[in-house]
Order: sequence, then structure tokens, then C-alpha cells
Amino acid sequence: MTSVKRQRGLDAMKPYEPGKPIAEVQREYGLTDVIKLASNENPSGPSPKAVAAIERALPGLNLYPDAQSYNLRQTIAERMGFELEQVSVGNGADGIITQLCLAYLDEESEVIVSRSSFPVYDRFTHTMRAKLVKTPLKDYGLDLEAMARAITAKTKLIFVCNPNNPTGTIVTADEVDAFMERVPGRVLVIFDEAYYEYVEAENYPDSLQYVREGRGNVLTMRTLSKSYGLAGVRLGYAISTPEILAPLYQVKEIFAVNLLAQAAGIAALQDEDFLKQSVTANRAGKRFLYGEFDRLGLDYVESHTNFILVKIGPRAAQVQQRLLARGVIVRPCVNYGLPDFFRISIGSQAQNIRLIEALKKEVATNG
Ligand SMILES: *Cc1c(COP(=O)(O)O)cnc(C)c1O
Repeated sequence: MTSVKRQRGLDAMKPYEPGKPIAEVQREYGLTDVIKLASNENPSGPSPKAVAAIERALPGLNLYPDAQSYNLRQTIAERMGFELEQVSVGNGADGIITQLCLAYLDEESEVIVSRSSFPVYDRFTHTMRAKLVKTPLKDYGLDLEAMARAITAKTKLIFVCNPNNPTGTIVTADEVDAFMERVPGRVLVIFDEAYYEYVEAENYPDSLQYVREGRGNVLTMRTLSKSYGLAGVRLGYAISTPEILAPLYQVKEIFAVNLLAQAAGIAALQDEDFLKQSVTANRAGKRFLYGEFDRLGLDYVESHTNFILVKIGPRAAQVQQRLLARGVIVRPCVNYGLPDFFRISIGSQAQNIRLIEALKKEVATNG
């Protein structure tokens, strides 16, 4: 008997395990009250202006959305001081990563990523049967020097996740400047800034400056899933040169950004109160959790995001299961190569308290 074989690139692909859904934990543990601090979602909910915009857009659902996402891209372009042609959108930032890999990779290509970074880069690199080159972490953050050293004649893309998921660290403006001096023009550097709005550090780089200066090998990517509270509608955007973006249009799903996402995105980007409130609440939650982790004697990595990498130790897998039984979902980091750690999203104050209460019971018995 013959069977239909999947394409070979998929053999190298590891399964992606998203944060466990609340409903699944409710079912498996017979619980009603479950909180999820596993996917870096916004505990403030969606922007109310985005919700209103979706409601206004609903009667138009029988029509295809604007394939060019003209109004949405125009809104992004104006807000950020770029031309329409320098802005591209996708079905989440994930959609843009997919487009980048489809547009730029083949079997001859190499892609440089860091270990313990965002796993979606790996997936579509494998899909294209390109070679994935992983550099080690330095102090839980990206080692840009190692990434620069890893460049070969075959390198096409370098993904710089800044801040990095799941470690929450940043690379600084000076580090990025030194790195960019070593990257040849034929290599595209992608700055994944999914957590951009949460960063407070003054030495955080302005990656858009490279695009402004006309460097033809830089793309900056952001998302509305985190600080804008729209993970459910799927919307991300990229800023680069029209030349870099053109191949993305060739491969993108024609209607990748749906009607409701376009409407919600335009409204959310203009809802500065919501953004401010989200970022402020996150800051307070982060300080609260730092204090509680200190009290519990748990080490953590200082975070520039809406999540914290916390060291639990060799019992991490067991502790994770026990937290689930208490209705608290956190993200284990085995698949990120950090088996002793959890990545914990900063929740609402009530969720953070609930997390700490549950952790106290589990790590107190940790011995
Ligand atoms: C959440 C996240 C994304 C994906 O964002 P979507 O727009 O929801 O697809 C991309 N990169 C990083 C580093 C993320 O953490």
C-alpha cells in the first residue's frame, strides 16, 4: 500500500504547544474557576473602542474585506510617520513571519535565531526546508555577537526577538548598532517587537531608525495581540522598505486580515487611553510579582514585557501540574530549552494574587 507523504520540511518541525486553553483545564480537572497566565494575553480585556468598531462592522460581513487593508495601513503609516508603501499587515505577527519565510527562504537558505526564543520562526524555516542556525543565550538574552558570527554566505534572515519571548530580556541600542555594522545588505534583519509598548528601558533601540535611514535590509514587526488586547482577532504589522515588503504581497493570503480585524485595528491604534492603562497596570503587576517572588525565594529574570521568566527548579513539571489542579495555567518552558522555568504572564491584580497563593502552597512544599 502506498501512502501520501507530507513534504520533507515538516519532518524537522516540532509541534507547537500553545498555552493550555481554560476550557480544557476546566474539563480535565472538573474546575469552574480557572485563570490563564500562559499566553501573555492582556488582562484588561480588549480596547472598548475596538469592540465598538467590530460591532459597527458586523453588518458588512457578507462582503470580502479590503485585500489591501488600505485604511488600516494608512492609520499605521500616519501614526508612525511612514508612507503607506512601507507598511504591511498580516494575520497576526505570526502571519507576517509566515510571509517572510515563504517569500525569502528556500533549501539553500540559512536562518539565524537564538536558542530560547520565539518558536514560530523555527516552524516556517523548516517548512521551507531552510537550515535553522541557533545561537546560545547570553545572560538569558540574545547574544548578538554570536548571531553576527553565525552569518554565512547562505544567511537570508535573522530574527531578533526584542524583547525576547520567553526570557523577557532586551538587547540594547549600542548592541544593535554594533550588530548592524556587521550584517551585510543581503541579509534581512527582522526585529520582532511584539512587546514594544511595554518597554521602559532608555537603552532600548529604535529599530525603525534603520528603515528611516533607508537601510534596505531591516524589517520591524509589531502586533495588536498584547498591549492592545486583540489576540483573538489576529492582527500584526510590519514596517520596512517597499522593496522588502513586495515579495510578502506575493505570498500572503489575499484576504489575510479579515474585516473585523481591520476595523478593530484602526480603532485600537487610536485608543491611547486603553494602551496607557494596559501598560500602567502591567507595570504595577510586575512590581507586585517581583516582590512576591522575592518573598518566596524564587529567582526570575528582569522583564521588559508582560510576562516573567521564573525559576522553579527541577520540580517545575510537577509544580506546573499541581498549579493546573488549582486552576492556574502557567507556561512550562521545556520546549524553550529552559526546563526549570515557567513563563508567567502578568495578570490582573486578582489573578496575580491567586497565582501567588497557589505558588506558595506548591513551592513551600518544595523542600
Ligand atoms: C505573541 C508574539 C507574536 C505573535 O503575535 P500575533 O500577532 O498574536 O501573531 C510574535 N512574536 C512574539 C515574540 C510574540 O511573543
